Amino acid sequence: MIHQFDAIIVGSGGAGLYAALEASQRCRTAVLSKLYPIRSHTGAAQGGIGAALGNVEEDKPDWHAFDTVKGGDYLVDQQAARIMAEEAIQAVYDLENRGLPFNRTPEGRIDQRRFGGHTRNFGEAPVKRACYAADRTGHMILQTLYQQCIKNEVAFFDEFQVVDLVMDNGTCKGVVAVELSTGALHILAAKAVLFATGGFGRMYKITSNAFANTGDGPAVCARRGIPLQDMEFYQFHPTGIMGLGILISEAVRGEGGILRNRAGERFMERYSPTLLDLAPRDIVARSILTEVRAGQGIRGDRRIDDYIHLDATHLGRDTLMRKLPDITSFCKTYLGIDPADAPIPVLPTAHYAMGGIPTDIHGCVVRDGAGTVVQGLYAAGECACVSVHGANRLGTNSLLDLVVFGRRAGRHIGDYVQQAAAPSVSEADAEPARSWIARLTDGRPGPHGGHILEDMKLVMMEKVGIYRNAADMQNAIDTIQALRERYRTVRVQDRSKTFNTDLLEVIELGNLLDLSLVTAVSALNRQESRGAHSREDFPERNDTQWLKHTLAHLEGDAVRLDYKTVDTSIWEPKPRTY
Ligand SMILES: Cc1cc2nc3c(=O)[nH]c(=O)nc-3n(C[C@H](O)[C@H](O)[C@H](O)COP(=O)(O)OP(=O)(O)OC[C@H]3O[C@@H](n4cnc5c(N)ncnc54)[C@H](O)[C@@H]3O)c2cc1C
Repeated sequence: MIHQFDAIIVGSGGAGLYAALEASQRCRTAVLSKLYPIRSHTGAAQGGIGAALGNVEEDKPDWHAFDTVKGGDYLVDQQAARIMAEEAIQAVYDLENRGLPFNRTPEGRIDQRRFGGHTRNFGEAPVKRACYAADRTGHMILQTLYQQCIKNEVAFFDEFQVVDLVMDNGTCKGVVAVELSTGALHILAAKAVLFATGGFGRMYKITSNAFANTGDGPAVCARRGIPLQDMEFYQFHPTGIMGLGILISEAVRGEGGILRNRAGERFMERYSPTLLDLAPRDIVARSILTEVRAGQGIRGDRRIDDYIHLDATHLGRDTLMRKLPDITSFCKTYLGIDPADAPIPVLPTAHYAMGGIPTDIHGCVVRDGAGTVVQGLYAAGECACVSVHGANRLGTNSLLDLVVFGRRAGRHIGDYVQQAAAPSVSEADAEPARSWIARLTDGRPGPHGGHILEDMKLVMMEKVGIYRNAADMQNAIDTIQALRERYRTVRVQDRSKTFNTDLLEVIELGNLLDLSLVTAVSALNRQESRGAHSREDFPERNDTQWLKHTLAHLEGDAVRLDYKTVDTSIWEPKPRTY
């Protein structure tokens, strides 16, 4: 079945919905989502969205942009970071005007709280910059945007999973998707396609990410010749629930929560004397692991030996209920403790992809270091790399990235489709996807994908995690290549057409395997430590050789690496101290 639109948005998280909202004002826009829209991972975002409103303390967009650049260990493209910090203010007020119920100050303004790495006056002390709706900020953003899209009569294709991209001579013409309820393949042709498919934390064993975060957009693009940028930079959030990885928002520390080791010591005093528990995430995650490795963790239960305590008992039950109600209930449900009475056992959890599909500041996908635009193809949100997060993202900057760059991409699409020709597609464009699915479901014997998935997640967790070295990463690459080999013989035993989740999960596994390979190869190649990429064998940052973005091209079983210049036009890179 073939459908024609001006613009197709793949993904209905914050980035996709904001782009759809803008594009739909100028052209016929459809949103495809493998999930019912408001189940997107944006809805799980807890702590807040960053904007230098200065409602509680003095603040400036320039301070915000600088913190973003420094937090990203100078791999951030600085003009892009400045755009994000400046447009943040209007973006938050737009959300407010569209109905988002932010928490308020006693004077009725949007309230703000502290978050890691956000400071006043270029690093002096933490500043209150995160706007929030209790610990359900993402949920509120998603609801607000979805309602506005319905009002704008955006066409929604709910529970459609995109499996391929239709390209013609380097120009994007549309996507191929499986309709979950029938198994039918659809071609959606459009002048412009935007990927907003979110992250891929499911590559790791312990993660804060939802089951659907399997990196479909970047993987589909990579297989169609688009490079992936800075994939070696994957963020571990310092505080996941020990053993499970479910996120305990940084907002707990923003409100005053303290990390303690087995001696009850506030160990962040040793690692970050100025920002303490509110240092950037890469630093806090490494500090926790260093404490645990030094035998300073707290002896845990059967699941994992040692962990660290996040102590929020001194905040009081009232603050916890007003500002962190969901976190409080997670602790009760998953740990059987009340954070008002007992400290929370935490360990780092795989959380956020700094890398992804490379784009310019309008969301246009670029194919090389010179910034050559792929006509008709856009990306925004966590699956994209603008790059405003560089080597390490600051908390609250992802929701901001979605809103600012989702909106910019939507606007650019609105212009672009006015002059672009309608593409011509045919059923033949779905042939590669059709024959792939036919092979997976041909009824022949073959291994189940489940074991491959478990092996991949484990090797990524153990060998391409927080601390890395060449031997481990090479070992991970060999394992992943062997798993990819086995994947080629996988068969789906359930051959039904209706909601065949077995089939869809196998397709997602293929995506995760491709992204794991690109991540591990990019990480082995970068012989330095920067942001979230921390190498035991190359412990220093090396600007002379490595102040450059990686562009990884997936070519069959090989990954070809190329580079792109980092925009350092505003602030000269300096060593990071906090
Ligand atoms: C638990 C948690 C808490 C967080 N808290 C914060 C926070 O407080 N502040 C902050 O700034 N950031 C936070 N983040 C990060 C932030 O929420 C995410 O980076 C962001 O929401 C990603 O949004 P997105 O629009 O890019 O994608 P998502 O919201 O993940 O949406 C992806 C969309 O793509 C669709 N999709 C995916 N693959 C396909 C396919 N093949 N076909 C069709 N559709 C597809 C999905 O159905 C979904 O609609 C948090 C993340 C997590 C996991």
